[in-house]
Amino acid sequence: MKGIDRREFLKIGGMAAIAGLGGKAAFEILAPGKLEAAQEVPLTGGKHWAMVVDTTKMDDALMDACIDACHKEHNVPDLGSPKEEIKWIWKETYEHAFPGQEHEFIGERFHGLNFLLMCNHCTNPPCVRVCPTQSTWKREDGIVMMDMHRCIGCRFCMAACPYGARSFNWGDPQKVRTDEKLMPLNPGFPQNKDYPTRSKGVVEKCNFCAERLARGDQPACVEAAGKVRKGALVFGDLADPHSEVRKVLKEHYTIRRKPELGTGPNLFFIV
Ligand code: SF4
Repeated sequence: MKGIDRREFLKIGGMAAIAGLGGKAAFEILAPGKLEAAQEVPLTGGKHWAMVVDTTKMDDALMDACIDACHKEHNVPDLGSPKEEIKWIWKETYEHAFPGQEHEFIGERFHGLNFLLMCNHCTNPPCVRVCPTQSTWKREDGIVMMDMHRCIGCRFCMAACPYGARSFNWGDPQKVRTDEKLMPLNPGFPQNKDYPTRSKGVVEKCNFCAERLARGDQPACVEAAGKVRKGALVFGDLADPHSEVRKVLKEHYTIRRKPELGTGPNLFFIV
């Protein structure tokens, strides 16, 4: 990661303030809380990670299990309000997920059906291009990462992402979750003591479970899906011609979200 000096930082912070975009106070960026301890996630070099969702094997209960596993793994808070929703992985109807591919007959079979969505870890990610502090970047293995310490909350990345894959912490999730009145929504928060929580004013999103991949595990959603239905989610290395993900892509017709935008999504859907 490249650093920014203080002068540059103040300039960027000023830009965000002028734009009226809100975000973190400077002291929060310069002195992050200990729960947000910087995560050095080792790179899984030489790979090109991708995910295939087999929609023929999916149902709402399975999607909920995937969402639950991911959000517990990453301490994603349930704030109980759609306006403040933080999501790394979520359900969306066909019409909303694939607007460009909707047709009265093609879409007929999928009408009203939910699809499991997350960050596409785009090959050409517009979110990365617009970030003024390089707090989001693309790794060699294809994962689009976020460093919450460097995020100044300008939300340019959210505006640039055409998939709604990023969420903004309007409040302090740690503080809210320790409020007794709200605790029943998400008891025991944070559920995973090994994963940092976030603070007010930062953007977050799916990281393809980079921390799990680094220790040789599959993403949490893939593990959860595999316990219920084998092959519902397939994750693997596109750079390996013998990988399961390459095999599945070779054998099935798949679609991606808004491919016409040229972002190169690495999330595929068997339909
Ligand atoms: Fe960025 Fe959105 Fe693509 Fe994820 S889906 S890499 S957040 S543009």
